[in-house]
Amino acid sequence: KASNLQGYAPICLGLEDFYIRRLYLRIQDCFGRPISSAPDAWFDVVERFSNDNNKTLKRTTKISKCLNLGSYNYLGFAASDEFCTPRVIESLKRFSPGTCSTRVDGGTTTLHKEVEECVANFVGKPAAIVFGMGYVTNSAILPVLIGKGGLIISDSLNHNSIVNGARGSGATVRVFQHNIPSHLEKVLREQIAEGQPRTHRPWKKIIVVVEGIYSMEGELCKLPEIVAICKKYKVCSSTQKNLQSSGACYRYASMTYKAYVYLDEAHSIGAVGKTGRGVCELLGVDTADVDIMMGTFTKSFGSCGGYIAGSKELIQYLKYTCPAHLYATSISPPAAQQIISSIKVILGEDGSSRGAQKLARIRENSNFFRSELQKMGFEVLGDNDSPVMPIMLYNPAKIPAFSRECLKQNVAVVTVAFPATPLLLARARICISASHTREDLIKGLEVISRVGDLVAIKYFPAEPRKQ
Ligand code: PMP
Repeated sequence: KASNLQGYAPICLGLEDFYIRRLYLRIQDCFGRPISSAPDAWFDVVERFSNDNNKTLKRTTKISKCLNLGSYNYLGFAASDEFCTPRVIESLKRFSPGTCSTRVDGGTTTLHKEVEECVANFVGKPAAIVFGMGYVTNSAILPVLIGKGGLIISDSLNHNSIVNGARGSGATVRVFQHNIPSHLEKVLREQIAEGQPRTHRPWKKIIVVVEGIYSMEGELCKLPEIVAICKKYKVCSSTQKNLQSSGACYRYASMTYKAYVYLDEAHSIGAVGKTGRGVCELLGVDTADVDIMMGTFTKSFGSCGGYIAGSKELIQYLKYTCPAHLYATSISPPAAQQIISSIKVILGEDGSSRGAQKLARIRENSNFFRSELQKMGFEVLGDNDSPVMPIMLYNPAKIPAFSRECLKQNVAVVTVAFPATPLLLARARICISASHTREDLIKGLEVISRVGDLVAIKYFPAEPRKQ
């Protein structure tokens, strides 16, 4: 039942000899319910990700090798790379696999400094701070940025790490309809007029949280419109207290803020934009208009960890106050080196044009695969240029059959159901990589087409049925 490959991602630092074993913990039954007492046989274990640019992965059971159409390895860096891998191995020898210290207690190596400068420069912000895990970056940063008396307006389909961060912050959370700027504007206007619950005082701060590419939808964020709305509405905060020298009365200085924009680029940084700089570059948004830029290294960069990039003051503030920076062990040096090296390749600083080729390839591959699926009659979500393409299955009962049949024909796809999606909007989520060749994609399309016929998920028959 759970023989589908759910929720895996290659976090293998591009090291040739690292054999990866990952348990698939997100085990669900065909209704998407978590199965707590699943027998061991229900866990899919990947013996290793093979080294041929992550096109294949090997499983211990029955199928030994299959085309990997599910990993977030957008640029193919989660495999041995002629530029990155030797440098990662060197950093492993020079530093160690782990720092065994927090950033403030001896866990900051020269690589940690370098990776932060490199990321800030890449995303187009004055400064950046790096964390050991992408999920933690969202869930730990939001509570530092905002608290009681503040308002978070979150896209209804934001990732769980954002949802948890928002809940943990103690701020009031309001949700706007997925990627609909007019609804964001409505919520923002209502909330500014209403103020804090019960007291109706003005909000201390407002943060609007969106994603660059939505991981279950494949859609690009309507960032230009969202940024314009956040700039348009000024929040008048009267909570800055100045003690009057004359006595006991407080003067409330009235300050105006715009609503801050928080952008999670986990799936878009490195994957879209002419030079891989994400949705701002692709959609022509000035990075100065995005106050807090967040992203992860687990997708396009083939490493692990996450970052926040912003103004120097913001990053300085986070470095002094964020518990995940002060109390958590710093990111592993080889992982930091992998990030630095892959960014250098993307920017062509390795002296080759491989970065530009990878970027052109992922765009070409994504657009080819999406249009072919549509021609075959599948309902495919998402926008052009996005490497994430969900194929709608709707009925969650079709999930096991779809993934099992694909696996039988040596194609691994990720299937997703409730609670990651609404109950009746189950889907198979394809992720395209720059390392897929045209032959890989054609093979994948053939298999998906056959399985699509078998489980009857095509929107219309590709050819008229014979009587
Ligand atoms: N944000 C988004 C939008 C994600 O999709 C994910 C995970 N895929 C994360 C954050 C967490 O990142 P990580 O897996 O690197 O911890």
